[in-house]
Amino acid sequence: LVARMRPFGTTIFAEMSALAVRTGSVNLGQGFPDTDGPTAMLDAAAAAIHAGRNQYPPGPGIPELRAAISAHQRAFWGLEYDPDGEILVTAGATEAIAASILALCEPGDEVVCFEPYYDSYAASIALAGAVRRPVTLRVDNGRYAFDPAELRAAFGPRTRLVLLNSPHNPAGKVFTAAELAQIAELCVEFDAFAVTDEVYEHLVFSDAAAPHVPLAGLPGMRERTLQISSAGKTFSCTGWKIGWVCGTRTMVSAVTRVKQFLTYVNAGPLQPAVAVALDSPTSYYQEFRDDLQRKRDRLCKGLTEAGFAVLQPEGTYFVTADITPLGGTDGVEFCLSLPERCGVVAVPTQVFYDDVAAGRRLVRFAFCKRDEVLDEAVARLQRL
Ligand code: PMP
Ligand code: GLN
Repeated sequence: LVARMRPFGTTIFAEMSALAVRTGSVNLGQGFPDTDGPTAMLDAAAAAIHAGRNQYPPGPGIPELRAAISAHQRAFWGLEYDPDGEILVTAGATEAIAASILALCEPGDEVVCFEPYYDSYAASIALAGAVRRPVTLRVDNGRYAFDPAELRAAFGPRTRLVLLNSPHNPAGKVFTAAELAQIAELCVEFDAFAVTDEVYEHLVFSDAAAPHVPLAGLPGMRERTLQISSAGKTFSCTGWKIGWVCGTRTMVSAVTRVKQFLTYVNAGPLQPAVAVALDSPTSYYQEFRDDLQRKRDRLCKGLTEAGFAVLQPEGTYFVTADITPLGGTDGVEFCLSLPERCGVVAVPTQVFYDDVAAGRRLVRFAFCKRDEVLDEAVARLQRL
């Protein structure tokens, strides 16, 4: 194995899901829903398979999906992307992120990102031979926040891009207009690109301090941002791996150059189905969010009753809990012993930090599960 990949073991999600299966635990570790997305989408996929749409689709993605992505960007975020050249369909957000970094970064270039960060970020940066410059989100007064001076200090002459995830996994944080403005100003000042991971764009709860605002919409950012999302979360089909990246013609063409040699194209018959899903009435998006907000409240209440110090998320389908009140001092130890102690799996947040101490006592629970599964997990955790 090449040296640059040696620090990376098995992903924490695979590891914790395997632990859940092995111990028969309730799995609130890996974030995947346990119910299916819209019926019209599932029917469209089955119909596409039976209609013979089973060969290689066009490289950038099928036209009807690119048109649906374009319409969705306009309807929700007021952003205009030409389906012909400014939108590329990818194997989930994961490939979009990897291909974007590989397309933009020379070895030694620096990538500013906020830690805790989603696990593929560090690996994709390493694959490109680039260097990550994490800015730490610290829990302060029940909210995750960064120090603006630390953000500025992370920028320098080698900064090539900022990798921003909002709504943020695992923090559940939605970056505010003021925070986004700081990031945008630094990108302009240092002539850096931005790659934005917005897979939770539709999961911002009604009591969040800020609505979701794509960084690409800020002054000076449209021409330097690759905006990424995916069908997995919004339509509860994480196993389909249909994502996309939008940006200027030049930037998307650079990403396409890389992507064509990673996966060439993506699952043909699933693409018309995701086009159907994106065209869902706004009530679908509203109900999806409201449903997850009820689940958030259900799990937060249960975790609080079980003795955790809970950080209520503003978005995503993850909640952070501090284990200190339960006598825990290390999240990894805590999560590894949890299945045996009470039959529940969670993810230690510290694995998403370079500054491990900042997340040592934090664990992440996923609430994208049926109510009875959440209730069973809480009943078990209350035995701790
Ligand atoms: N980014 C974030 C923040 C995620 O939580 C996930 C996983 N769900 C992904 C990217 C990967 O998305 P996909 O499954 O579409 O590759
Ligand atoms: N995004 C999901 C999570 O954070 C899992 C994705 C994966 O398993 N790679 O749990």
